[in-house]
Amino acid sequence: MTFDKSRPTSMLTRRKALTLGAAGITSALISSGAAPLSALAKAPMLGPSLASHHRFTLGDFEITTFLDGTLKISGLFPAFGAEQFQEDVDEVAKANFLPTSGFEMSYAPVLVNTGKELILFDTGNGATKRPDRGKLARALKGAGYTPEQVDIVVITHYHPDHIGGLNEGGKPIFPNARYIAGATEHNFWSPKQLAESGGSLASRAKLVQSHVVPLADKITFFKDGQDVVTGIRALASDGHTPGHLAYHLESKGRRLLLWGDAIVHQIFSFQKPDWKFTGDMDHEKAAATRVKLLGMAAADRIPVTGYHLPFPSVGYVEALGEGFRFVPASYQFRM
Ligand SMILES: [Zn+2]
Repeated sequence: MTFDKSRPTSMLTRRKALTLGAAGITSALISSGAAPLSALAKAPMLGPSLASHHRFTLGDFEITTFLDGTLKISGLFPAFGAEQFQEDVDEVAKANFLPTSGFEMSYAPVLVNTGKELILFDTGNGATKRPDRGKLARALKGAGYTPEQVDIVVITHYHPDHIGGLNEGGKPIFPNARYIAGATEHNFWSPKQLAESGGSLASRAKLVQSHVVPLADKITFFKDGQDVVTGIRALASDGHTPGHLAYHLESKGRRLLLWGDAIVHQIFSFQKPDWKFTGDMDHEKAAATRVKLLGMAAADRIPVTGYHLPFPSVGYVEALGEGFRFVPASYQFRM
């Protein structure tokens, strides 16, 4: 494949370069005053890296996904397919070029600029999870926004990795925002008795007490079908939590499904949507929701963004066999 048919413009012509060979080129460069090639190879190792934001357009909306951080979790099994044989879970991982020893989870809040409002979906892990997570506020600034600009914060559900970034040191991070959360979700998590119960949900409910309850008079409590603004509509998607809400976005005929934690893993949740995920609070409902949302995205060819899909967390869904396949987005939104 040829990308550039123009002839070299330097004094060292293509023909000469081919005749000289590598040694000849080096001596030619030295005699011309350039540094020897070997000196160019030394640079410090900087470690793996990931972008911290990813912006694209959807009709008149501008959408940015942010990387709040990542977490490596050991043990793919039983996190996924706890009711299956471990060999079968490992087999799916291997077939998809994934290690069987564990998995990495991305955390990707989404900012939507409608042109009139700046709307943030979920707030990341917050200060207590730094340095690996809790990086949303910094990523926002890196992408050209300030927390003060955010008009509406929408919370898909009340798990700590979605509400942890609502405040820092007791002060709201988004001081000018109003909030939207699911009515069922709030009613489940907000009673003080749950935080004081000492049960398995108590520590999560305590975070709701410190991070959500103080904002209650600024929260609008949503049900299925309500609109955040024109073009952004709540979609009931319970199972992961009792009142989880996904959102359907549409601008100028372009659509996007923002599904929070309804579908978490790019392989297991797609290919084996009925397999158990230990993060779901109601397995039966979570599996039914997965099949419903994946089926809708596949049938209508709606692009999706998922909070825990590998960053930048945007792609498509294809129906495949008894399940589905995640197709990460490439340049579709730039065409
Ligand atoms: Zn989550």
